[in-house]
Amino acid sequence: MQAFDVLLKESVALHGHLCPGQVIGVRMGILGCTLVGIEDPRRSKSLLVYVEIDRCATDALQSVTGCTLGRRTLKYVDYGKVAATFLNTQTGRAYRVLARDDAREPAYAYAPPGASKQEAQLQGYSVMPYDELFRVRPVLLQPPEEDQPGHSASRVACETCGEGVNDRREVRAEGRVFCRACAHGAYYQPLAAGSPIPVVSVRDI
Ligand SMILES: [Zn+2]
Ligand SMILES: [Zn+2]
Repeated sequence: MQAFDVLLKESVALHGHLCPGQVIGVRMGILGCTLVGIEDPRRSKSLLVYVEIDRCATDALQSVTGCTLGRRTLKYVDYGKVAATFLNTQTGRAYRVLARDDAREPAYAYAPPGASKQEAQLQGYSVMPYDELFRVRPVLLQPPEEDQPGHSASRVACETCGEGVNDRREVRAEGRVFCRACAHGAYYQPLAAGSPIPVVSVRDI
């Protein structure tokens, strides 16, 4: 593992600013990789990280571990918690690391008197012992084949919209195959001609 300072600098470059989330995320990443016995996470082919939040610390975890959504080594689980589970797929070892909400006050003890909240958190989180900053639990985590990195486990077309669906994310009902958007409703609503956002032909762009 590289030194904390180096890893923090890199994560700030990726994320765009220095913030307590970068410090928490970098330390969480170092701790998680150490717990599952992965020394060089960016070169490892055995690390999966399940992150439970999409905020500042997430970018730091990506930076430290080299795990990304596109490589399917970073999994986003929408829990809204500053927590992540680190899995070594070779050994099956997995630890869930949760940032403690009660680490905010103790952070002041590690910063100069009169430090602002932001300064106290930046400095405190950088040096506080891991057990003051995090709670750690061993967990059982066995990702199904369709969640693994590598080739798609499957690909089918939705019977309603015709769009391709990878990795068994389809919904099967009464012998038919649908995408999740058609089966459960999408996160977007398609707009027809005459709506405030014009229908465009991409040929014109
Ligand atoms: Zn941030
Ligand atoms: Zn569909």
